[in-house]
Amino acid sequence: MTALNSKIPKGSLFQKWTQYKNHQNLVNPSNKRKLDIIVVGTGLAGASAAASLGEMGFNVKIFCYQDSPRRAHSIAAQGGINAAKNYPNDGDSIYRLFYDTIKGGDYRSRESNVYRLSEVSNAIIDQCVAQGVPFAREYGGSLENRSFGGAQVSRTFFARGQTGQQLLLGAYGALSRQIKLGTVKLYNRHEMMDAVIIDGKARGIIARDLISGKLERHFGHAVVIATGGYGNVFYLSTNAMGSNSSALWQIFKKGAFFANPCFTQIHPTCIPVHGDYQSKLTLMSESLRNDGRIWVPRKKEDAEANRNGKLKANDIPEEDRDYFLERRYPAFGNLVPRDVASRAAKERCDAGFGVGSTGLAVFLDFKESIGRLGRNVIEERYGNLFQMYEKIVDENPYENPMMIYPAVHYTMGGTWVDYELMSTITGLFVAGEANFSDHGANRLGASALMQGLADGYFVLPYTIQNYLSGEIRVARMSTENPAFEAAEKQVQERLEKLIAVGGSKTVDHFHKELGRIMWENVGMGRTETRLKNAIDLIQKLRAEFWKDVKITGKPDELNVELEKANRVADFLELGELMAYDALNRNESCGGHFREEYQTEEGECLRNDVDYKYVAAWEYIKEGEFRLHKEPLDYEEIEVKQRVYK
Ligand SMILES: Cc1cc2nc3c(=O)[nH]c(=O)nc-3n(C[C@H](O)[C@H](O)[C@H](O)COP(=O)(O)OP(=O)(O)OC[C@H]3O[C@@H](n4cnc5c(N)ncnc54)[C@H](O)[C@@H]3O)c2cc1C
Repeated sequence: MTALNSKIPKGSLFQKWTQYKNHQNLVNPSNKRKLDIIVVGTGLAGASAAASLGEMGFNVKIFCYQDSPRRAHSIAAQGGINAAKNYPNDGDSIYRLFYDTIKGGDYRSRESNVYRLSEVSNAIIDQCVAQGVPFAREYGGSLENRSFGGAQVSRTFFARGQTGQQLLLGAYGALSRQIKLGTVKLYNRHEMMDAVIIDGKARGIIARDLISGKLERHFGHAVVIATGGYGNVFYLSTNAMGSNSSALWQIFKKGAFFANPCFTQIHPTCIPVHGDYQSKLTLMSESLRNDGRIWVPRKKEDAEANRNGKLKANDIPEEDRDYFLERRYPAFGNLVPRDVASRAAKERCDAGFGVGSTGLAVFLDFKESIGRLGRNVIEERYGNLFQMYEKIVDENPYENPMMIYPAVHYTMGGTWVDYELMSTITGLFVAGEANFSDHGANRLGASALMQGLADGYFVLPYTIQNYLSGEIRVARMSTENPAFEAAEKQVQERLEKLIAVGGSKTVDHFHKELGRIMWENVGMGRTETRLKNAIDLIQKLRAEFWKDVKITGKPDELNVELEKANRVADFLELGELMAYDALNRNESCGGHFREEYQTEEGECLRNDVDYKYVAAWEYIKEGEFRLHKEPLDYEEIEVKQRVYK
């Protein structure tokens, strides 16, 4: 059994990363050329890692299933990226960003990693500015900041509502430079199908060329997985349609522990679900909560009249509006963290105050800020988001309040990694949203982009080098090695097995059904009974999938249905693990809300005595997992109840 060793450097929290960098082993330039690194994923984490490692002189192969790295899900990120520059001079510091992140994560993240993240945050902004990322600027030319949830300072850098796109173009530029120089080779339209482990070390992957359907073998002295989050296990989420958990599930089955799988982020400001045939949910960026005020009618009869189409939002007078976040959390108001805001919206809707035709919506209103700042300022700040809203909902948000409701958005859980971002498989690193990350039980807005780029630009270049310094005598291995052969054979058999089912129901049918089970039982509110029910239902659905799924076509050709089926088969196993994890954690923390464990005011009731640990699960066999615990020790932070009042 693998023991957990988080490899946290000794010494003061504030010196750990500096000490690590001072003492880590290096690889000299002539040896770097002899070492191959595989990076799977071209989002912010993967692209920044590959560009940096290529620039350092390693041979890098990078993979993505899209036609271009620029189509990675990171491109969708809207609101911004945090850093502790303190440009507005409003009291920010590296320590405060660290503190807010630990508190925001409800004291379920590793202190040393979070401090390092805060420490490197400023360098990310410098790197991106140097690449030409067009961050918003003040009149005088300095970079502008706005506020995000869970912080009382403004530390979010942004490029209108397209921050992810601009950052990814920056990383893609850096990556393209390496591709041209020949240090990085790009494999687009390629999907990782399995990891290859030789003598306990990650030595490559099996990839499928999605155009020809052919399986390929690729060797690497080290492998980096940066395949993003698994929110699509819920079917409806704000994630890109292709986002999936398969690479994480493949390495899980090969020995990489999965940490805190049940920690899912439900984002409060999404366009509400509007029909049975919807396959995607749209985020309205958290940045909108800078200027938008969230409310529901104070009177139930007004809410009902609105639901029946008899009373418009604008006809409800000011005194009959309940700005419930401002009322409940006066210190943070509309900028409470996402988990808190989502639960508060759900509470109002469950209590009968929800609006819109389904009653599962609250208002996000810009009337006051348009009056104060003028429509042109709001348009400058959020123009593209308003346009997106109007296109989808067919209502003008400058004139009527937007309607929003919480939706699945981000997964804090992921592959367990140590301080070096190495998983429990030697030589297998995991970066970005794919790892269990620095966000504990709840991520603060604008911190995912920060973490992905921190991992890729500033952490992996050191930690991978430390590992590879011990591999310089290992010659490139032949992909005729029996381990490659066995892995490829297994993948081939699985694809054939999927097609051979020859059933009657579409892949989407199963995915949708899984999503419904997950949302109802492993979603915003969880109970022991519902979680046990979920496990039972998922097991039955999985059995039905393998008896009755219908996939047309063949494995050795372009086959989009087969790609989907392969991913959904993994979601059908992951969903069960998420329910197990949520069942094991008899407490509420961050996004994990067990209804049995709440304060009188409906807030999370943590149990630090029994659950102040990272839950790292080991795969035993299908439906059977073993729990390992990484205790969380806090040296510099006092662990207390989260208060945003
Ligand atoms: C709508 C939306 C808005 C957001 N806005 C913000 C924001 O403003 N600020 C913020 O900090 N965060 C934001 N987030 C979160 C943030 O965008 C993500 O957490 C982050 O971009 C993830 O980056 P990543 O590099 O880890 O993965 P991704 O960008 O998801 O990239 C994954 C990559 O892995 C590849 N891949 C996956 N599986 C395979 C496979 N098996 N084989 C080969 N390749 C594979 C894909 O092709 C892709 O290239 C937002 C998220 C959403 C959904």
